[in-house]
Amino acid sequence: MGHKSWLGLILLLFITLATGGTALADGETSPARDPKQPIDEAYTARIRKYTTAPYFSSPLVDYLPASKTVPTPEVVLGDVAGAPGILPYAEDVYKYMRLLEKATPRVKVVSIGTTEEGREMIAVAVSSEANLKNLEQNRQRLAKLADPRAIHLDDAEADKLVAESVPVYYITGTIHSPETGAPTALMELAYRLAVDESPYVREIRDGVITLITPVVEVDGRDRMVDIYKWHLAHPKDFYPPLIYWGKYVAHDNNRDAMGMTLKLTQNVLNTYLGWNAQVLHDLHESVPYLYDNTIGDGPYNAWVDPILVDEWQMIGARNVADVSKFGMPGVFTHGDFDTWSPGYLMFLAAMHNGISRLYETFGNGGADTRERKLQPDEYARTWYKPNPPFPETLWSQRNNNNYEETGLLTSLHYFNENKRLFLKNFYLKGKRSIQKPSAEGPAAYVLPADDPRASVQADLLSVMLKQHVEISRATSPFQVALPVKKEKKSSKPEGTEEKPKPASPTTRDFPAGSYVIRMDQPYSRVADALLDYQYWSPEDPQTTPYDDTAWTLGELFGVQVTRVTDSKVLAVPMERVTELRPFGGVKGEGSIFAIDNHAEPALATLRYRLKEATIDAAEEPFQSGDRKFSRGTFLIRGVSRSDLDAAAKSLGLQPIAIAAAPQVKTHPIRAPRIAYVHTWISTQSEGWWRLALDNLQIPYDYMSTQALAKIADLNAKYDVILFPPVTGSTGPNAIVQGTPTAWGNPLPWMNTTETPNLVGKNDSTPDMRPGLGWDGLAKLQGFVQNGGVLLTALDTAQFAISTGLANGVTSSNSEKMKIVGSIVGTRLVDPASPIAYGYDEKVSAYCDNGPIFSVTSILGARRRHLGPEIKTRPTGRGTKDDPDFVVGRPASEVPDEPEKELWEAPQPTDDQSFNNPRVIPPANRARVILRYADSKDLLISGLVENGNDIAQHPAVVDVPSGSGHVVLFSINPVYRGETENTYSLVLNTLLSFDSLNAGRKQADEK
Ligand SMILES: [Zn+2]
Repeated sequence: MGHKSWLGLILLLFITLATGGTALADGETSPARDPKQPIDEAYTARIRKYTTAPYFSSPLVDYLPASKTVPTPEVVLGDVAGAPGILPYAEDVYKYMRLLEKATPRVKVVSIGTTEEGREMIAVAVSSEANLKNLEQNRQRLAKLADPRAIHLDDAEADKLVAESVPVYYITGTIHSPETGAPTALMELAYRLAVDESPYVREIRDGVITLITPVVEVDGRDRMVDIYKWHLAHPKDFYPPLIYWGKYVAHDNNRDAMGMTLKLTQNVLNTYLGWNAQVLHDLHESVPYLYDNTIGDGPYNAWVDPILVDEWQMIGARNVADVSKFGMPGVFTHGDFDTWSPGYLMFLAAMHNGISRLYETFGNGGADTRERKLQPDEYARTWYKPNPPFPETLWSQRNNNNYEETGLLTSLHYFNENKRLFLKNFYLKGKRSIQKPSAEGPAAYVLPADDPRASVQADLLSVMLKQHVEISRATSPFQVALPVKKEKKSSKPEGTEEKPKPASPTTRDFPAGSYVIRMDQPYSRVADALLDYQYWSPEDPQTTPYDDTAWTLGELFGVQVTRVTDSKVLAVPMERVTELRPFGGVKGEGSIFAIDNHAEPALATLRYRLKEATIDAAEEPFQSGDRKFSRGTFLIRGVSRSDLDAAAKSLGLQPIAIAAAPQVKTHPIRAPRIAYVHTWISTQSEGWWRLALDNLQIPYDYMSTQALAKIADLNAKYDVILFPPVTGSTGPNAIVQGTPTAWGNPLPWMNTTETPNLVGKNDSTPDMRPGLGWDGLAKLQGFVQNGGVLLTALDTAQFAISTGLANGVTSSNSEKMKIVGSIVGTRLVDPASPIAYGYDEKVSAYCDNGPIFSVTSILGARRRHLGPEIKTRPTGRGTKDDPDFVVGRPASEVPDEPEKELWEAPQPTDDQSFNNPRVIPPANRARVILRYADSKDLLISGLVENGNDIAQHPAVVDVPSGSGHVVLFSINPVYRGETENTYSLVLNTLLSFDSLNAGRKQADEK
């Protein structure tokens, strides 16, 4: 023991004695500074100066303890944390954390990975020197609590580990880049935790390992700081909105905890589980002044352990009470955030036996001190907000930092006081996850070895591996009993029942090699939640779901997933799969290779990879030997067997060599030159499309609507223009007009000395305001007329319809309909269209109140939304099926109305066609590829209310226009890395861009 430590011990003893008398009545430690520890006077003075009113602070943060050896954040910031005008880059935050690490044995910094743009992510551990010295032993103890199989679910052994272990509380900051306050708050928090000798903070330091990732979205942080610096240099100007955060998505980076597609999600989960942390507490800044949505509102996610629900209530309610006691206004819990979707970063903890927490504090979107005026619903006093925020107040970044740090310190202290309980709960949640098969079930999920979409199955399994879910593979075939479905009671009187339905099978067989996701594992909960179905009742008191209501990954990926309740499945011989082995490759003998089409996205990758090969698509199903191939099968020539074999193996595809080309019509499958278009309004939704194409290694030229408008001859450069949804635009007008240029200043998005990080690997412009423009619209129209393909979805589809690019389709919205991020049923209408290649009749798709399309055969005609009830006869003579009559004249024959389905264009009557140039010739009419299912089959997972408004309407439409095509999507086929089932609707359009009319039926049209 060195000299310093002795001194510490004596001091500690002294303080314990000295503060004994000031402890609170119930034995709790008072949140007060140690009067014996000197404070940093200059720093403290500025904390007070930048705090706009005394009640926006607390006794925990209204001073800074001084240290002779440990530097304060000022050494890096040049001022105190939260000072006006100061936002550090991630690099500066890291620099400070590493200075801390050098200065004190109470801080340790580790690198936890990199971002898509190669920037580092870190985690900073702050605890006592002893705790950090014994990290590894402590980690081993926590690992046993995390996986109770290691101690044979022995509660007594668990109690011993609980008594010896130091828990880990993980705090993450600034995942949302315009929410800028957390990094400085966390720098100062780390300093306080390392330096402050007050009993309150010392207890935290000795009792807990506080783990901090100060910047989660590092790419976005650096862009945001750039923009803020630009703003400081041009204080009178509007500054550019943060159009890009990370490389791919903006706000949705906090919706990736299911798909695990972003590096930041993977790095945080690996850190959280690697440290066996108990809490993940994510910091946001969009609600005044501290909304602790740990408790949130219903409905709660149905898969979380009730133990966690109790922890939410305990921690949230107590935290609000603790901070409120300091007299800080505007601190509350409950609110309107429901806790249903597991897509949020913090929910990684909820799904992995930890405790998820999220703060919304109040940020100014930068470090300016500003007068803030709130909306009535923000400052109204309610039952859960007895002390609401002020309607108007001067607000500073320092205030925000005060709230963040005060909330976190009180949280850490409460957590430490109750750590034995939380550690025991941590163990119990793990144990109960392992006991799932015998408790609530199911026993396992099985993904059969003979799923025809093997490469997509592999992608789903890889999501499970990223979630740290254990996967096994059966080494022999097996059979499971299926649950008996209860017959619904017939409402008909006895004796009048229809003949009984054939009995449903009671067993199911799976081949050897099938994947088994056992539910007797510590992380069974996340697998169960992601693979199960969701039902959100239209009667739910929560009328505004906060996010998606469904995420059933088997449906969204379009692979077979069977929920097995028969516990015999756990006894099937199987082996653990720690990584997915490559599979696929060429089979058979012959001169031409055929790959059966099951709408696997990897087919598109193969097309781009085998640049020299000739690939055709069979336009009809065919047979070769005794093997059947579906419509759309790839026929490959001009590539060596070994090259094809290597490519197929890396993509999980299985080409079959066949003796001769089939005698069916074919068309070329080509790799189109793609212009990928974004706006300067929002890149949120298109980012997911970009991510999908990049993962599939499909090249494209990324450009804005502005850049597109400047290309002289679009057809000379591109075959397909991909225009993914914008969302957040104010309609088609905004796509054309952009942001007004009649007033204000240019909004540059460019790398300059002030903004060195802005552009990254994305796009740039000297002025974000102009949109596509009328010239651009004319160019787009010319491109399609001259044979190009324009692919649009949601609002860009509405844009195409309303600007006349896609004639014969109308689009409307329903006020009553509620399909909130749900999975719906769709049906193939035209399986002969190349867009439909590889799909079965039923296709599950993601829908979020998609536009309601109707197709017409007369330009400008609006299809009335009338259901089958319109065919009922009028009031009159006779029975229901009798003809009516008119008194005093001979009866006239009522002509048969041609029956058309809701997704079809009504045939124009002779009268309508008479001298009518607006009747669209059959060859120019819209071709419906996919439609929404009938009302009763629409809901697959999630919430569907008043679905009748969209039921049977077209979901994917191919509109011929001039020599080209405009393809419209009402579903969102590419979304959050979760919808691989519908990717190929987009990819098929790309690969058959110059043959989209293949299989088009016109026989019955006139
Ligand atoms: Zn946020």
